[in-house]
Parts: sequence; structure tokens; C-alpha cells
Amino acid sequence: MPIYDYECQDCKERFEALILKNSPPPTCPACQSAKLEQLISLFAVDSEGTRESSLKGVRAKNNSVRKDYAMEQIRHEKEHRH
Ligand SMILES: [Zn+2]
Repeated sequence: MPIYDYECQDCKERFEALILKNSPPPTCPACQSAKLEQLISLFAVDSEGTRESSLKGVRAKNNSVRKDYAMEQIRHEKEHRH
């Protein structure tokens, strides 16, 4: 998804705009100005990387929690089966 960060030169509003091939040039959502500066989209790259690694972290955590839970279930069943 080509999402770009813009800063309005009139009111300094910052916003993200999804720019498709046929999209008209974006305008400021606050004041409708077309005087926009496209910001270097380091944020997009950063958040992509962060999202990727945090997803992996969450997945790893989920897996270990699931394993612990399964172990706990087995232990519980053994202890209570007489
Ligand atoms: Zn504006």
C-alpha cells in the first residue's frame, strides 16, 4: 500500500494519504490546502520492521504459553487421576 506522510504547509497538520495510480493529489484534511510537503517516509519503514519483529515476538510468546498451558493440563490430569 503506497501510504505517504504529508505535512500541510498552511496549518502544519500531518497526515497520511493513500496514493493510488489514479488518485488526485491529496489535500489537507484540516484546511483542504494543497500546499503539502511529502515527508520522508522513514516511519513507514520503521513501523514495518517493528510490526514484523513484534509479530514474531507475539507468536513466539503465544507458542510458549500454549505449551505451558498444555503441560499444566497434563500435570493436572495426572495429579487428579487416582
Ligand atoms: Zn492544512
